[in-house]
Amino acid sequence: MSFYALWQEQDWQSVQQSVLDCTQGDVEQALQRQGKRTVEDFMALISPAADAYLEPLAQLSAQLTRRRFGHTMQLFIPLYLSNLCANDCSYCGFSMSNAIQRKTLNEQEVEAECRALKKQGFDSVLLVTGEHERKVGMAYFRTMLPVISRYFSHIAMEVQPLSEAEYAELRSLGVASVLVYQETYNEQVYAEHHLRGRKQDFKWRLQTPERIGQAGIDKIGLGALLGLTDWRTDSVATAMHLRYMQKHYWRSRYSVSFPRLRPCAGGVEVAAEVNDRQLVQLLCAFRLFDAELELSLSTRESAYFRDHAATLGATHFSAGSKTQPGGYADQAIALEQFSTEDNRSPLQVAEALQKQGLQPVWKDWELGLS
Ligand code: SF4
Repeated sequence: MSFYALWQEQDWQSVQQSVLDCTQGDVEQALQRQGKRTVEDFMALISPAADAYLEPLAQLSAQLTRRRFGHTMQLFIPLYLSNLCANDCSYCGFSMSNAIQRKTLNEQEVEAECRALKKQGFDSVLLVTGEHERKVGMAYFRTMLPVISRYFSHIAMEVQPLSEAEYAELRSLGVASVLVYQETYNEQVYAEHHLRGRKQDFKWRLQTPERIGQAGIDKIGLGALLGLTDWRTDSVATAMHLRYMQKHYWRSRYSVSFPRLRPCAGGVEVAAEVNDRQLVQLLCAFRLFDAELELSLSTRESAYFRDHAATLGATHFSAGSKTQPGGYADQAIALEQFSTEDNRSPLQVAEALQKQGLQPVWKDWELGLS
């Protein structure tokens, strides 16, 4: 049974209500659980009842994180290759109907970006594009990946959903991680925010992690865009999706991100805000749900928030991010996907981490012989 079929069996309102109905007793049981926590435990930990337990939740999360990951924080940087997109998403500055200047980096420009990032110390890069299969599809990736892999030992990608065979080819070209965010697991809300293009196909997107798993990609990133609708229900769906993937594609590692809606060109209003306290609660709940899980906080979040959340459960930070193609080699370019909040340089982020006793690590695990 696919995760899509499994999720179809769930009723959004019932899941939402189950989280709201969790009691302090449920939270205490989830906190004290020995061994693997269940989705029901996760629901209790993100429920309103768990707000009163934020301190013990955060302490336990910090302990589990240090035990598994040591006193480290992996640093990565997004490299935007193109802002062309054949979709219209209500929350994104790259939407095809937004009248922004479009740019796709050519080989020389990609190389210039790689050099600029290398100078800053990065060895782990996240390649990002809009979703334009014709102009920024496999032919483009076949040309650019050999260039990029000369500079970085770990390459992650966040691009349009592809077929299993295409993911297998990306793997052979050196891609170790693929991130694909469902945005929201609420099919009706999903339809309201995806107005044109292939991204309208909810099922195709929801089944993407399975194709990535079948292709044998080493690390798979999941997540929802927090703020489109009830964040708790979307997070339960993410947790269920994670468990499904771990059961069926157990050779892969997993990461979860917590992007909150940010302002962008032509952007949408936040429907259901996640405040800082709730975001910490969510991060820590995921850590208790899975001690091995990589948890990523991007520069969408403020320096203040990231400094406070760094020791609580996060394992991966982006730093110095520019969300426009060509933005590292040419600082004057302004075609951004969304505005970032933590605008410190990578060095400043690294220093802030060191002050908290964390060692910044500039590379992810390298793919071995396989
Ligand atoms: S979120 Fe992705 S698919 Fe949607 S408009 Fe932005 S780049 Fe395109």
